[in-house]
Amino acid sequence: IYGPKRPNSRGVNLNVRSHFYPLMEKMADFMDKQYLAKPLLAFDVADDAANTHEVTSPFDRRQRVGHVQWTTNEQAAKAVDAAWEAFPRWEATPVAERAAVLRRLAELMEDNMAELMALCSREGGKLLTDGVDEIKEAVDFCRYYAMRAEESLGEPIELPGPTGESNRLILGGKGVFAAISPWNFPVAIFCGQIVAATVTGNTVLAKPAEQTSIVAHRVIELLYEAGLPRDVVQLLPGDGPTVGNVLTSDSRITGVVFTGGTDTAQVINRALAARENAPLPTLIAETGGMNAMIVDSTALPEQVVVDVVQSAFQSAGQRCSALRVLYLQDDVADRVITILQGAMNELRMGDPRDLGTDVGPVIDEEARKGLLEHIERLKAENRMVAESPMAAEHTQHGTFVAPVAFVIDSINSLTREQFGPVLHIVRYKARELDQVIKDINGRGYGLTFGVHSRNESFAAEIARNIRVGNVYINRNIIGAVVGVQPFGGQGLSGTGPKAGGPHYLQRFITEKTVTNNT
Ligand code: NAP
Repeated sequence: IYGPKRPNSRGVNLNVRSHFYPLMEKMADFMDKQYLAKPLLAFDVADDAANTHEVTSPFDRRQRVGHVQWTTNEQAAKAVDAAWEAFPRWEATPVAERAAVLRRLAELMEDNMAELMALCSREGGKLLTDGVDEIKEAVDFCRYYAMRAEESLGEPIELPGPTGESNRLILGGKGVFAAISPWNFPVAIFCGQIVAATVTGNTVLAKPAEQTSIVAHRVIELLYEAGLPRDVVQLLPGDGPTVGNVLTSDSRITGVVFTGGTDTAQVINRALAARENAPLPTLIAETGGMNAMIVDSTALPEQVVVDVVQSAFQSAGQRCSALRVLYLQDDVADRVITILQGAMNELRMGDPRDLGTDVGPVIDEEARKGLLEHIERLKAENRMVAESPMAAEHTQHGTFVAPVAFVIDSINSLTREQFGPVLHIVRYKARELDQVIKDINGRGYGLTFGVHSRNESFAAEIARNIRVGNVYINRNIIGAVVGVQPFGGQGLSGTGPKAGGPHYLQRFITEKTVTNNT
C-alpha cells in the first residue's frame, strides 16, 4: 500500500478530520495569547519576577506561550498546611456533591476545548488529533470516576451480624495526596489523577510537569469554576526535585499518585520510605515501558505497518504505550520492512497545528539530545532500515527528531526506555519464540504489548504468557479508552491499579469497620 511505487499515497496521514475546522477557527483566538501561570494556592501568592520562567513552543522556540511562576518551598509547605486542614471538611462532603464537581468540570473542558487544544499544541507540541483525544480522555475520566464513586462510595456497606451485633464498613478518604504528572498527557493524566483523589474525599497538591504548567493552570482554573474549593486542590508549578522533595518528605502526605519515569518513581518511593514517624503512605506509580509487538508469518503485512506506524510514531513516539521493539518472524520480515520504509518516507514532520503534519516535535532540547545520542550509538553497531524525511524549513526552529527504524539483535541490548520516535526491529525464527517471550518478560517492564497473527490460538497463547498490563491483538497498541481498556502496567512499569478501570478509586480510600453491640 505504501510502497515506494506509490509516491503520492498519503494513506498514513492520521490527522485530516473535517470536524476540526470549526474548532480550528475557535483556536485562532488562543494562538497568540500570552499566559501567566502562578501557583494556585489556598492563599494569595504575590508576583515574584525573579522566580518566573519563560515558556516557548517546542516546534518553534521563537514563539512564546507565556510565563510560569514557580512555587517557593515556603509556599509549598503552607499549601500542605491548608490541604491538611481542608481534608476533614472535604471528606465529609457528600459523594454526590463531589461527583457533581467532576461532571461540571467535564462540561467546562468541553466548552473550552479549543483553548485547551491550542495550549496542548503550543506548550506541549501536540498534534491537533492528539490534543482533541487527550481532552476527551480527561472528560471521560471525570464522568467515569464520578459514576464509579457514586456507585461504590455513596453509602456504608452493611455486613452480616451473625452474633446480633451490627457491622458496617465505612469508606473515606486517606488524607492529602500529592499528584505528580508528566508533560506527555498534560490534561488527561494531570486531570485524571486529581479527580480520582478528590472524588474519593482527599485533598490534593498537584505538581504539573515543568514543560506543561500553563495548560495545567488553565485546568485548575476550570476546576475552581466548577465549584471546587481552593484549599481542596492546589497547583504547585516548579522544579520536580525541589517541589517534589517538599511534598514527599512531609509526614502529612498520606499518598502520592505519580505518572512519569521509572527512575523518578524510585526516587519518590525512597523519599517516602525515609520519612520518620510518618504513616505508611500509598504510592500509585504509572511509569515507563519497553513495549514490544510480535508479528508472525500469518499476519497481514499492510495492516501490520499501519499499526506499527501509529504505535511507534504517533505523538512523535512520546507515549508510554508506544511501540519500541518490533519482533518480525523471518519469513515475513523483508516484506514488512519494505512496506514500512515506504510508509515512513511518507510521514510529514512539522508544525503540530497544521492538519497535514503527521509527526510533531519532541518536548525539549534535552529530550532531542538524548534521542540523537541513542540514534548515534545505534548507527555505530546496527543497520538503519528507514528514516523519515525532515524538511529544514518546517523543523529548524524546533526540537524535532525524524522517525527512524533500526534492526538490532535483541531487546537485551537496550538499557532503558527511549521516549521518542525510534523503532527497534528484531528478526526471529519460529523456533526461537520461547526465547523471545523470555527476553521481553526478562526486561522487567510490563506496560503494553501487541501481537499480529491470523492464527488465533497462537495470539491467545502469546497474550497469556506475556507479563504486561495491556495486550492488543491485531491492532495498534496505543490509545486506551477510559472504562473500556483500563490502563497501566506491572513490574518496572507501575504499581497498578489501572487508570480508567473499576478498581482505580479503591487505592484512594480507607475502610473503617464499625461494630455496634447496642
Ligand atoms: P519524569 O521526568 O519522571 O517527570 C514526571 C513528573 O515528576 C514531573 O512532574 C517532574 O517534574 C516530577 N519529578 C521529577 N523529579 C521528581 C522528584 N525527585 N520528586 C517528585 N517529583 C519529581 O517523566 P516525564 O519526562 O515528565 O514523562 C515521561 C515518562 O512518563 C516516560 O517514562 C513515560 O513512559 C512515563 N509515562 C507513563 C505513563 C503510564 O501511564 N504508565 C503515562 C505517561 C507517561 P519536572 O517536570 O519539574 O521535572
